[in-house]
Amino acid sequence: MSGLGKLRVAVIGAGAAGLCAARHLLSRPDTFAPPVVYELTKNIGGTWVYEERVGSYDNGLPIHSSMYRDLRTNIPKEVMSFPDFPFAKHLPSFVHHTEVRKYLEQYCDHFRLWDHIQFGTSVASVTPVDVKGGWNGLAWNVTSNDGINHSKSTTERFDAVMVCNGHFYDPYIPAIPGLEKFKGMLMHSHDYRSAEPLAGKSVVLLGAGLSGLDICMELSNVDAKVILSHGQRPLTCPLPSGVQQAPPVTSVLDDGTLEFKNGERAKPEVFLFCTGYNFTFPFLDKKVGVNVQDHHVWPLYKFLIPPAYPSLFIVGICRAICPFPHFHMQTKFILSVLDGSFRLPSREDMEKDVELDIAARRARGIATRHILKLDSEQWAYNDELAHLGGFEPLPRYWSNLYESNKVFRARDMLNYKTYNYTVLDNMEWKVHDLHGQH
Ligand code: FAD
Repeated sequence: MSGLGKLRVAVIGAGAAGLCAARHLLSRPDTFAPPVVYELTKNIGGTWVYEERVGSYDNGLPIHSSMYRDLRTNIPKEVMSFPDFPFAKHLPSFVHHTEVRKYLEQYCDHFRLWDHIQFGTSVASVTPVDVKGGWNGLAWNVTSNDGINHSKSTTERFDAVMVCNGHFYDPYIPAIPGLEKFKGMLMHSHDYRSAEPLAGKSVVLLGAGLSGLDICMELSNVDAKVILSHGQRPLTCPLPSGVQQAPPVTSVLDDGTLEFKNGERAKPEVFLFCTGYNFTFPFLDKKVGVNVQDHHVWPLYKFLIPPAYPSLFIVGICRAICPFPHFHMQTKFILSVLDGSFRLPSREDMEKDVELDIAARRARGIATRHILKLDSEQWAYNDELAHLGGFEPLPRYWSNLYESNKVFRARDMLNYKTYNYTVLDNMEWKVHDLHGQH
């Protein structure tokens, strides 16, 4: 605790999740000392800071953002925003990524977050220490390096740590036998910036998630010949003309040809992985016992809290969610844990809760790598956090508008970003598209 008995909280990362954490900690000066937000780059925004370069920054650290030049959001601004800070009214529902960065800067201005962020500071280790009289008998040593001169390292003591380091920067490339024999250009969507360099080329694009589909459309606009290879059932939504679908690539033959699961083959100029990212917490002391395997992170009570170290919070690891409001709900819940308004169950009960939750998901046939995909369950999860923490749930229209956008996206992938939404009240909204069809 700080000298005045207020809790000191460290926040790792100044992306949307870290900014949300800082905003709420600062709103409670009765209980929390001003937070320290560590940010390894020179900017706020994380994912939303477009970086033309690929590879590393000048200081040798790997480029964090996976943003590409022409990206527009896939969630309408009406439900993408934090619930307490809407996007500017004049913007269309699906905005260019530069608008999201501006929005996050406005969030920092509005809630006066800038002075609390230590830029160019990379967290190198987070270690628990037993402290008599500390929050739950615990405290945390956070050691950070000056991002430019790695020799300058500083350690500070905190009552709690919120880990907001993002999960879209360490590319995941599946193990494909013979991959080293591929002779063309091999790339991951993390390094994709724009379609022009691939104009007219033959491309096998592996992965039909949101980025995969979006990039597939960009490539077809520059006449690339795309084979979209994926493990889902064949997509029935209209795809750009000329795009073929194929099952996953299972091996690369000696002459560099790709073989698909159905035995068909292709020898493209480019093999592009849109296969997602690994979770990584390189700074976290091993004894905290947070395991990362096969796209799963556990044990975490309510997908947030390691039961043995309940003053550490790993924010935003759930997938297939609406990120900003999700961060908002998780942060409010964390504050309710720290200020004591929600009393955590015992360590054993939290462990049991995690085990039961995982077992229930497995029983529904959910593979380990999909356990963190909440999808439509996110709304019940958000409501549960609000209920336990005793704070406002999201407005009623939120889930319905978000889920409807998913339906429109699946039905009309080529045009859904031309739709515009209007929220009428807490429950109602309407949509119209630029062709006036709704
Ligand atoms: P990040 O934005 O990744 O921020 C993490 C921050 O932590 C970074 O600034 C990083 O520099 C810092 N950091 C990391 N490690 C350390 C360390 N050791 N020490 C100090 N600082 C550290 N979401 C939407 O809502 N709508 C969309 O349309 C959408 N489109 C997307 C498109 C792409 C291509 C991608 C990759 C993601 C998209 N997302 C979208 C998801 C998006 O990532 C989230 O909305 C959100 O921005 C994630 O915020 P974050 O704070 O968790 O992580």
